[in-house]
Amino acid sequence: MSDGRRKTSNMIKIFFDSRQSVSENDSFSPSAQKPAQVAESWRNLGIPVEFSSFIPCTKKQIKLVHKAAYVDGVFKGTHVNGFGNKSNQVAAALPWVCGSMVAAALYAFENKTNTFSPTSGAHHAGYERGGGFCTFNFLMLAAVLVHQAGAQRVGIVDCDMHFGDGTENIIRKIGIDYVQHYSFARSDFSGPDDGQNFIDHFPDELRKFSNCDIILYNAGADPHINDPLGGVLTTDQLRSRDFLLFLCMKKLGIPVATSLAGGYQRDENGGIKPVLEIHDNTLLECHRVLTEY
Ligand SMILES: [Zn+2]
Repeated sequence: MSDGRRKTSNMIKIFFDSRQSVSENDSFSPSAQKPAQVAESWRNLGIPVEFSSFIPCTKKQIKLVHKAAYVDGVFKGTHVNGFGNKSNQVAAALPWVCGSMVAAALYAFENKTNTFSPTSGAHHAGYERGGGFCTFNFLMLAAVLVHQAGAQRVGIVDCDMHFGDGTENIIRKIGIDYVQHYSFARSDFSGPDDGQNFIDHFPDELRKFSNCDIILYNAGADPHINDPLGGVLTTDQLRSRDFLLFLCMKKLGIPVATSLAGGYQRDENGGIKPVLEIHDNTLLECHRVLTEY
């Protein structure tokens, strides 16, 4: 324990409720079905984790970061969600998806400890619309609610392959000045072309967050070199990315709430095993830093 602010237990809290996952959603992205699969995979890693349920977000809370008509339209089935459909199942899961990340962020901030939320599909959702498999921006919702709970500055470290345009849009539309946003991809949506160069400079980027009270880490699996929408980082480099983030924040005494973001690889049976392995590694690196450093 570097600074006495952290809890002495290395138990990592995961905020999961089966209602945040849907059984079917017609989309290239597995995001809506992913929480249950990731939670199961994490449960089987053999490291000390504790699963907690949580209170789902209300429409009123979601409207803190989105236009009311958009929120109401998605829930009524009159406006397309971020997958481009009007699925009732997806709509019913959204308060739980948002609630998972909000609970993870609040617990991390209040207890100065790292937490996980097996959710994805936030950062392309802007103030008035979704897109890119993202319906409501639970990163920004968590940022606003953790700020209301007392965090002066909130860092969003977005390591998905694609630029967090929805996050930028909401920051601008609402005029939020307490969120510091880093995106792995550039604002023109191009990513770094050299994985090692990214790893070499990542610690410098992370140190810029030293005045934040919490980090929301969007740990994308789609920067993987084999991802159909990615293609930059090897498995080892993705692990290094996670390791560097958790180590840097531990040294700075800043708690981290981690969400999943994108990942589109499939195994030979059409399952998402390669994606699950990347998300497993993120939790394993967090555990390794907490116990060994
Ligand atoms: Zn992505």
